[in-house]
Amino acid sequence: MAYRYLFGPVPSRRLGISLGIDLVPQKTCAYNCVYCECGRTTNLTCERREYVPTDRVITEVDTFLATAPDLDYVTFAGSGEPTLHTGIGEIIAFIKDRYPRYRVAVLTGSALLPDPDVRAALMRADLVVPSLDAVSEEVFTRINRPCPGLTAGRVLAGIVAFAREFPGEVWLEIFIVPGLNDTEEELSRLRDAVDAIAPDRVQVNTLDRPGADIRVRPASPLNLERIASLLGGEVIGEACTSRVSPPEAENAGEVILATIRRRPCTSADIAALTALRPAEVAKHLRALEARGLVEPVQKERGIFYRVR
Ligand code: SF4
Repeated sequence: MAYRYLFGPVPSRRLGISLGIDLVPQKTCAYNCVYCECGRTTNLTCERREYVPTDRVITEVDTFLATAPDLDYVTFAGSGEPTLHTGIGEIIAFIKDRYPRYRVAVLTGSALLPDPDVRAALMRADLVVPSLDAVSEEVFTRINRPCPGLTAGRVLAGIVAFAREFPGEVWLEIFIVPGLNDTEEELSRLRDAVDAIAPDRVQVNTLDRPGADIRVRPASPLNLERIASLLGGEVIGEACTSRVSPPEAENAGEVILATIRRRPCTSADIAALTALRPAEVAKHLRALEARGLVEPVQKERGIFYRVR
């Protein structure tokens, strides 16, 4: 079966082996973060609706999980903000009722957490990873470039309310953008926010792949360690890739394309994510490039492939 709404399983830097569920079309989000590895937001919206058919997502999830794959998480993530989809609660409930052995994670930019309906929809997940990059309105606007009407104050209040109500684990993610949210003032506000949220973990991240804004640079490892320690958190580490099985030969091109569609990758990243041999990855990338589906871009860490 060719999956439209699932991707992976991929080795995740935080979640071990993770099957991704993508609930919104590329690129639908309530933010347009300068660092977003999915590229610029083309549909900037806070409107919740059924962006893709809930029943088809459930059918794909059911078909995949019925094969009893070895997974650490089933993760809602992908081409934008998953909580914009009004069926997310129903899909989480389906997984937990039918396949309770699988842990469910939701990665969210937090923009919709002020909405009590969204918070209620996430209650049966095992882990929610909300992002918070800024507390002051100016820095929030410059980093997250939210849809009109959203304020940093509302988003922070939504995360605090969610963390109090949610019975599962909350891992707060803070993405450091040098020159914007690594000033002493902003870090001090972020530390107060961490105290108010009291998450189970704080994870500090920085640019690893090309972001939406080409001027954004990664924070240095030393600075990242300093900030993580100031915020009582940890730096997000490398993915564990040893448990990934390669896809069937006839599906390899589609798997590579699905991976690049969610985020730009180097050929080495793709080899690690898919467990394909580097020569096979190179062959498929050449074919995808010849079909006009992907293009290479030179970045500091090497040549990244992204969808055209
Ligand atoms: S990083 Fe997340 S929240 Fe920000 S624009 Fe990309 S998908 Fe949306």
